Amino acid sequence: MELLEQRILKDGRVIGSDILKVDSFLNHQMDVALFNEMGKEFYKLFAHKNITKILTIEASGIGIACIAAQYFNVPVIFAKKTESRNLDSDAYLSEVFSFTKGKTYTIRVSKNYLNSEDTILIIDDFLANGKAALGLAHIVEQSGAKLGGIGIAIEKGFQDGGKLLREKGFDVKSLAIISSMEDGKLSFAE
Ligand code: 5GP
Repeated sequence: MELLEQRILKDGRVIGSDILKVDSFLNHQMDVALFNEMGKEFYKLFAHKNITKILTIEASGIGIACIAAQYFNVPVIFAKKTESRNLDSDAYLSEVFSFTKGKTYTIRVSKNYLNSEDTILIIDDFLANGKAALGLAHIVEQSGAKLGGIGIAIEKGFQDGGKLLREKGFDVKSLAIISSMEDGKLSFAE
């Protein structure tokens, strides 16, 4: 997606060899007009899958998922990363290793909001090693719902996640795929 690639080039900052910081438009301040275009693009890519719900993970996936959901006209569920007394104790759980935080945490989704009649679109901001998406896919699997696809804003194509998920047969579509970030210089896959 040209608009997103241009924005990454303009405002993204490479940290070390493998982290892209996009706090000015995606991970902290959010550019809603850009999210709107991303939402339209996700709809173009996955409209034919008859999606009934979008599943994402807190925090950064939520904004993107909500804007996309307006095109699909479906609810958004976000997996929670912390235990809370508010959350139904009857929940689907999965373990996720966080690439950015370097630790494993449990994600949870109440059993009330996913069922075997659903076709789920997973949406997330980044795809690195695929752990977040795999955790979400594991939750979808436990619920008996169908996984319609995985929509990612920014995939780092030089990390293993995309390959791993596609090899598992998941329909993964990313709006921008970064092929390399060496020496702070970004390039995109064709
Ligand atoms: P994965 O689970 O695929 O290894 O990593 C994806 C998750 O880690 C995303 O939900 C995202 O929050 C975070 N992440 C991974 N790489 C980056 C990155 O380069 N920049 C930012 N901002 N977040 C990242």
